[in-house]
Amino acid sequence: MKSMSPSNVTEPTVDALAVADSAKRHLMQPWDMVDQLGDEARPVLDRAEGVYLYDGEGNRLIDGPGGMWCVNVGYRRQEIADAISHQAMQLGYNSPWFSTSAPAAELAQRIAEKTPGDLNRIFFTTGGSTAVDTALRFVHFLNNLRGRPEKKMILSRGDAYHGSTYLSASCSGKMRDKDHLDTARELVIHLSSPNPYRRPEGMTEADFCDHLVDEMEAKIEEIGADKIACFIGEPILASGGVIIPPEGYHKRVEALCRKHDILMIADEVVTAFGRLGHWFASKEVFGVQPDLITFAKGVTSGYVPLGGVAISEKLFSEIERSEDGVMFANGYTYSGHPIACAAALANMDVIEREDLLAHVRDIEPYFLGRLKELEDLPLVGEVRGRGLMACVEAVASKTKRTPLALDKKVGERIDRHTEAMGLVVRPMYNMCVMSPPLVIERPQIDVMVEILREGVLRTQKDLEAEGVWSPADAAA
Ligand code: PLP
Repeated sequence: MKSMSPSNVTEPTVDALAVADSAKRHLMQPWDMVDQLGDEARPVLDRAEGVYLYDGEGNRLIDGPGGMWCVNVGYRRQEIADAISHQAMQLGYNSPWFSTSAPAAELAQRIAEKTPGDLNRIFFTTGGSTAVDTALRFVHFLNNLRGRPEKKMILSRGDAYHGSTYLSASCSGKMRDKDHLDTARELVIHLSSPNPYRRPEGMTEADFCDHLVDEMEAKIEEIGADKIACFIGEPILASGGVIIPPEGYHKRVEALCRKHDILMIADEVVTAFGRLGHWFASKEVFGVQPDLITFAKGVTSGYVPLGGVAISEKLFSEIERSEDGVMFANGYTYSGHPIACAAALANMDVIEREDLLAHVRDIEPYFLGRLKELEDLPLVGEVRGRGLMACVEAVASKTKRTPLALDKKVGERIDRHTEAMGLVVRPMYNMCVMSPPLVIERPQIDVMVEILREGVLRTQKDLEAEGVWSPADAAA
């Protein structure tokens, strides 16, 4: 495969060098490497359409990660742009402290119609982290009202990612994300990552499930259920590397939560709004009924920031009945922002009109099947996924599943090669993660897989040339 063909290159509309220069001098970005501040600007993006990004040089690239797991309906949707523009002229802002708007009320009703069970009360936030923060604060608030202020601890898991506010970051289980940062350690208990690929040697997947459930039960007994308020978990651990817990795990965790009076929060910031072929995945894909669900990203397909928490009617009725003068003092200047809610309504219209949920279910076997073909490459340990989210994990030895010595760089190396050929993958240490816009079609998947294969092959060659890996290692 050659590098970018001329037909995939158009005239850029930005001066990429000037943008990079300003960024280097003034822009601090998420997860910046401190030693590179001021030296390195991230690739400049100019415009986007459908599943394609166009960079500062005019190169067209398939957006493998769909922005950041969020551009569900694809880029350049006229009706979302129109809804944003119309709402900006109609009512560009309203204070949610003193007023409400038609888009916020309509969106709350429409989301409540899609959530499982009685999760009918919607609190809007500014994104996923604030959605998680709100859910946790609500649970603490509830237990205070219930007269059990000692029931506050939070069960989370290794490899989880729940956001970047103090409390949501405290729940995240990726140690690297806590580098030199403080967290509310006293509140959070981290259980093992439910990653079947990294299960202990010699254990079957079914035994691994038992092991995880036993660990959770033992932890509850050790700490005391009277001290544990909730369990928070992504149905599929997205940023941890698209980790799909073993068969039966979700239901057994739900059963433990019920048995010990622990509330269950499903963090569906990634999995909701179509990523797994349903509005929400907890019930429809994994058969569980959480007490709260957090969402963000796909709710507006990333066009504008918005997040929220769906709270069960049952829990809500408990605070409704509480004494006068009690206030849930949690909220944001932009809670239920009318422009964001208008964008979300237009986004839901697109998903419905184009039947994108059915499209995801239809194309899922092809997407995962084609990607799975990459497992024949010596460097690829596992390809896993569900719906339109997938991960290609590179390892040094396929048999021992050992991560590469060059762990942190392998995903980046693959990405550098694929970008030169027209595909962005999201590099994460030794993994490449994909969650393309839901509108992706079979021929685009073919191109994705073809480029990714070539990207891995070129990376293998580089590693071999540097003497840090060989196909013999892979078989060892
Ligand atoms: N929860 C999950 C599962 C996420 O993947 C993310 C972000 O990737 C968040 C929460 C945080 O969302 P945000 O970055 O919108 O604050």
